[in-house]
Amino acid sequence: QGEDVVAGVRTPMHISEMEQKFPEAFAQFTQVCKTLEDHYRDMQDMEFTVEHGKLYMLQTRNGKRTAQAALKIACDLVDEGMRTEEEAVLMIDPRNLDTLLHPQFDAKELKAATPMGKGLGASPGAACGKVVFTAEDAKAQGGAGEKVVLVRLETSPEDIEGMKAAQGILTVRGGMTSHAAVVARGMGTCCVSGCSDITMDEENKQFTLAGKTFHEGDFISIDGTTGNIYDGIIPTVDATIAGEFGRVMAWADKYRTLKVRTNADTPADAKKARELGAEGIGLCRTEHMFFEGDRIAAFREMICSDTLEEREAALEKILPYQQGDFEKLYEALEGNPVTIRFLDPPLHEFVPTEEADIEALAKAQGKSVAEIKAIIDSLHEFNPMMGHRGCRLAVTYPEIAKMQTKAVIRAAINVKKAHPDWTLVPEIMIPLVGDIKELKYVKKFVVETADAEIAAAGVELEYEVGTMIEIPRAALTADEIATEADFFCFGTNDLTQMTFGFSRDDAGKFLDAYYDAKIFENDPFAKLDQTGVGKLMDMAIKLGKPVNPALHIGICGEHGGDPTSVEFCHKIGLDYVSCSPFRVPIARLAAAQAAISNK
Ligand code: PEP
Ligand code: MG
Repeated sequence: QGEDVVAGVRTPMHISEMEQKFPEAFAQFTQVCKTLEDHYRDMQDMEFTVEHGKLYMLQTRNGKRTAQAALKIACDLVDEGMRTEEEAVLMIDPRNLDTLLHPQFDAKELKAATPMGKGLGASPGAACGKVVFTAEDAKAQGGAGEKVVLVRLETSPEDIEGMKAAQGILTVRGGMTSHAAVVARGMGTCCVSGCSDITMDEENKQFTLAGKTFHEGDFISIDGTTGNIYDGIIPTVDATIAGEFGRVMAWADKYRTLKVRTNADTPADAKKARELGAEGIGLCRTEHMFFEGDRIAAFREMICSDTLEEREAALEKILPYQQGDFEKLYEALEGNPVTIRFLDPPLHEFVPTEEADIEALAKAQGKSVAEIKAIIDSLHEFNPMMGHRGCRLAVTYPEIAKMQTKAVIRAAINVKKAHPDWTLVPEIMIPLVGDIKELKYVKKFVVETADAEIAAAGVELEYEVGTMIEIPRAALTADEIATEADFFCFGTNDLTQMTFGFSRDDAGKFLDAYYDAKIFENDPFAKLDQTGVGKLMDMAIKLGKPVNPALHIGICGEHGGDPTSVEFCHKIGLDYVSCSPFRVPIARLAAAQAAISNK
């Protein structure tokens, strides 16, 4: 009773024994349970005592529950006629669904473990494996069946293959929208980012945390939900999706009005997202496709070309790969919309850093190593996120946009031939537009190229050209931009960065101080700043729609998978949200809750 139980002095009997020991009190207790549950229409956590055979109820409250239990309780309450489907949908915290979709630590083993450090829980799930320090090692060892955790200062697009092969990713630097965080969430790989307590010694392949030095091959475990880092092995178990999960999701789909798309760059991600209920691709970051296999070599040749002819020759090599990628994406989406975003990041992200790669490139280009190094140096920028990227690349090198247009259109024509019944309207998205003239300029090349391709093929194909709204000036001049755009997609990662003037890669360094000083409650890169960034979005919609009523509008920044941000997107009248595959169920539920509570 009471303290004895709480303090663990006595081990309580199972409730079923009460029926034998105190049959009368038990009967009364069962009755009271029903009364309370009927009254609160929810699972109750009740405290009671029996004294001299008499039952006393001490307290009742809605019981805490795991995600799995929440789904079961919601379904039971509907089956018992106690709750409507809409009410049941509202009872589940969408954020908790995450825990149902990723491998988790074995609960018992986790209880016995003490974290040795903490970073940001950047991509949920649990991972345990041998420490590796380079993407190559992750790829080699992961490919050979080893479980590895890739530990890096930060990651870059060059690390993609290694990230794919790793169980988990741990970085010293970077916030919730750092490369590691975004890519890991996209892949559904566990990631802890920004653990600045780590002292990294990449050269000697070792790091120090909590006074201990870890070398390649040492085991660590990381929790991408809490951000905790553990020394040694904590076994993981695969997530299981119970039957109730599907039922609740079906209700969510019935009541939501906001569509849910996914951010996916590979057919595998797209397929996974489809399984999880995605209704389209809202963002395919094509730059991630330049790193696969042989294409990076051709892409580097393109960057290091001196003449248009050289550049076009290099792009010609990439075209079939891109086309093949897009065909596979269209196939995976079975006629559902696919937005392909044209090349966005600065070119320096693609150039080689290893001496051997630089030499190979020099050889392929017929240039000297010094010449290649000079080109690489010339690409250096002090603030690449504000630099030569997005549509600025297409303005400088329209041939890249032309190549990507050919790939998009040719892929669509081929897939449409194989599936004439699919509505396949490719959506080409131009990033980082801030002025209508930029969009007009790039769009001209896109339209000329697309129309020529369609005419040459002698087929009919509709396509759309839209833009991301991710620069404040684009939001402020959305009425102008809407005259040239078939759709808007809010890139709230960049829009947040540029509205606050915080670097999305470095803000993690000072945000903790902002939370401590109560300036911020949340990371604005994770949870949409509705007051400022949201106002720009609302303004852009209000400016854009009257000018172009057919304009469809979505969001594909990380906020597209955050429940409160999703609710905001519903309220301001977006057509869809787009998020990484594993967040699709969360967005579906959040969208339903927004629709139900704002009816
Ligand atoms: C964005 O800026 O919100 C976006 C989706 O694009 P990226 O993260 O690739 O810059
Ligand atoms: Mg962006």
